[in-house]
Amino acid sequence: MPEGYTYQMLQSDTQQLKSTYPFLEIGSIGYTVLGRPIPYIRIGSGEKEVFYNGAFHANEWITTPILMRFIEDYAAQYALNGRLGEYSARELYNAVSLFIVPMVNPDGVDLVTGGLQPVDNPYKNAQEIAKSFPDIPFPSGWKANIEGVDLNLQFPAGWQEAKQIKYSQGFTKPAPRDFVGDGPLVARESLAVYNFTLIHNFRLVIAFHTQGQEIYWKFLNYNPPFAEFIGQQFSRVSGYELADVPYQSGFAGYKDWFIQNYNRPGFTIEAGIGENPLPIEQFSEIYRDVFGILLLGLIL
Ligand SMILES: [Zn+2]
Repeated sequence: MPEGYTYQMLQSDTQQLKSTYPFLEIGSIGYTVLGRPIPYIRIGSGEKEVFYNGAFHANEWITTPILMRFIEDYAAQYALNGRLGEYSARELYNAVSLFIVPMVNPDGVDLVTGGLQPVDNPYKNAQEIAKSFPDIPFPSGWKANIEGVDLNLQFPAGWQEAKQIKYSQGFTKPAPRDFVGDGPLVARESLAVYNFTLIHNFRLVIAFHTQGQEIYWKFLNYNPPFAEFIGQQFSRVSGYELADVPYQSGFAGYKDWFIQNYNRPGFTIEAGIGENPLPIEQFSEIYRDVFGILLLGLIL
């Protein structure tokens, strides 16, 4: 029995959304280690491009149904000529092209959620990797991709610093979390997000993680125009705290690279509170908290 939102559920919900709302654009940004397409969904036709993603980390899979729910609410309001919050869905649609990759790490997610079974070879391989890290519960503590590379430590923005920090913590080989890989962008899933970003012109990106009810907006001393202001608005509507990234997590993440490369606002949202994987019972509270962020990201 699945214990969470699996890749199969994502596939079937995506198809369902497309058949209900044919104006959605569905595609793939690339392939996982296990050769499965990583889907994206686009809603809106405007010139301004915005990008949200979820589940970079396997045991943070709850971020996937959060993003799917937002697409569903937005699409339904667009179809009805209704409102999203206080904004006309049609006006948003015409002004903004929103791209969402709800599950960056499908293989890892399936390890945690029961989409992969203990009899499956990829599960066994991951279990072998995890044996060297007995303090990390398996599979619930798994964050990495199925080969044991942390996808959010793969970006060319202080990768050497990340490597130094994580190696000193003992993550010197494939691991359930915190292994930076043998070089930047060696993990297919990270490379797919990187390439997808390069072929677009995103004004703003948000990567959804769990947990901590915090918003990260900084990389080193970069200060993209409006980033702090937007972060403050996100904080106001969500109740989450606008926070500085702890030094040990301050390098080689997706938002770090985005800020460095574009000098535009890039955020990590640490949604929810508790121990990962957060239980599905937190879904409604998280969605209520982050709805304003998802909405304002289109506008600010
Ligand atoms: Zn995370």
